[in-house]
Amino acid sequence: MKYVVTPEGKKLVTLIPGDGIGPEIVESACRLIEAVGAPIEWEVRRAGASVFREGIASGVPDDTIESIKRTRVVLKGPLETPIGYGEKSANVTLRKLFETFANVRPVRELPSVPTPYRGRNIDLVVVRENIEDLYAAIEYRETAGVTTAHKLISYKGSEKIIRFAFELARAEGRRKVTCATKSNILKLTEGWFQHIFEDIAREYPDIESNHLIIDNCAHQLVKAPEQFDVIVTTNLNGDIISDLASGLVGGLGFAPSGNYGHEVAIFEPVHGTAPKYAGKNVINPTAMILTAVMMLRYLDEFEAAETIEQALIVTLEEGKALTRDVVGDERAVSTTAFTDAIIANLGRRSATWTSRPYRPIRIPEQRPEFDPVRPAQRRTVGIDVIVEASEPPDAIGATLEGLIGDLPLRLHLISSRGLQVYPEADTRIDYVDHWRCRFLATESEVTIPTVLTLVERISTRYRWGHVQLLYEMDGQPGFTKAQGED
Ligand code: NAP
Repeated sequence: MKYVVTPEGKKLVTLIPGDGIGPEIVESACRLIEAVGAPIEWEVRRAGASVFREGIASGVPDDTIESIKRTRVVLKGPLETPIGYGEKSANVTLRKLFETFANVRPVRELPSVPTPYRGRNIDLVVVRENIEDLYAAIEYRETAGVTTAHKLISYKGSEKIIRFAFELARAEGRRKVTCATKSNILKLTEGWFQHIFEDIAREYPDIESNHLIIDNCAHQLVKAPEQFDVIVTTNLNGDIISDLASGLVGGLGFAPSGNYGHEVAIFEPVHGTAPKYAGKNVINPTAMILTAVMMLRYLDEFEAAETIEQALIVTLEEGKALTRDVVGDERAVSTTAFTDAIIANLGRRSATWTSRPYRPIRIPEQRPEFDPVRPAQRRTVGIDVIVEASEPPDAIGATLEGLIGDLPLRLHLISSRGLQVYPEADTRIDYVDHWRCRFLATESEVTIPTVLTLVERISTRYRWGHVQLLYEMDGQPGFTKAQGED
């Protein structure tokens, strides 16, 4: 079961009120859940600023972690991220600790919310992979003048998020899933994500599927957002386009989100702690209320979710009680008064706004094996060595050719920031101190003693920051080429 039911029939949820405006908006959501009579039992726990102040570096105390492990469902307000080096974000700690691999951001036009897209019927969901990509990277200062980060895309992680997107489409009665990647440039990482998407799409013939390059996806979102239904994408792309999509329907005050994993689901509004409004009873709780509605659906409380959603929509449509971000200071009511108005509207339905036909979502099974893709053949065909040097590429090339000596290798090329500079250099290139030197085998395969001897010889002349074996798997190169490389 994805959640825990007490002997009294209540569904257990860990509640983290959070920092800044968090407690006010969480109170608003909890009052609505109570008023609608949903059978929820809260375990109130702490995370964020007060915990950091106690010296707990993760921002999440043990009893909060223990509660989440038990309840498996979290409703949380925003948490303050300490500014400065060395401190982690409590949000990131929670997401990583419980491997909530799917970040879901529904984006739907709401009544009375002023936006340039009014009347366009925007109703889409961004499904963002939440663990991998550049967020899984360890960053390095590889040479004196260059920093790097490795982008990590796994078959397993991609398969999981893509299946989740199709399952979400089915659960919400949606017709189309669009995959958005940068596969035209990042052929092995983003390109793999696209290929896995195309394979899995065949298993969902009831759902239409297509692929867009991420930059065109951003352009299309601004130009014709109504064409989208579900967008599935890698972590960094998703970070950017989900914020862009929220902006189309009114921005942060209206953007809910859910983070789904195999063990735990964490529901939180997209916005932060808005510290300047903390304790003033003026903030808009809509994003938090819609977040609580997502949680209720996850807990199979579909009726309670729809009743709250409809009461919120009726309140927005009537426009009699709205917060300052929607109607300005003069006409605004407080957070509490806005919540009271929604409570008074519980049971009413909008004449124009229909809730989607939600059903329970099936979270894709976890695969037990480490490596769901196993090449039948693998060969080490070469080696890339990152060399630090402040010489022109011709000089580095000549030195490296000399260092190869009797080894069964040839210096295939040197590239600088992705562009080939040796054996043929483009003189317009602005060089830095970071040179990727690619050596290819002159025999069938490069052996480890050859690699070690080469690196040892290079060390006599240059610092090196990184060594990467070049694999060929099932006849396909496991590496991309530099611009200008044959
Ligand atoms: P923020 O708290 O989201 O606030 C930025 C601005 O967005 C506010 O000043 C306000 O705009 C508007 N806003 C946000 N929530 C609103 C709401 N419910 N109703 C109406 N307007 C709302 O972003 P921030 O100032 O960059 O971040 C503050 C802290 O929150 C930081 O410590 C950050 O790390 C943290 N944070 C936490 C989370 C999370 O817990 N998931 C997410 C993001 C940020 P106006 O000034 O125009 O009125």
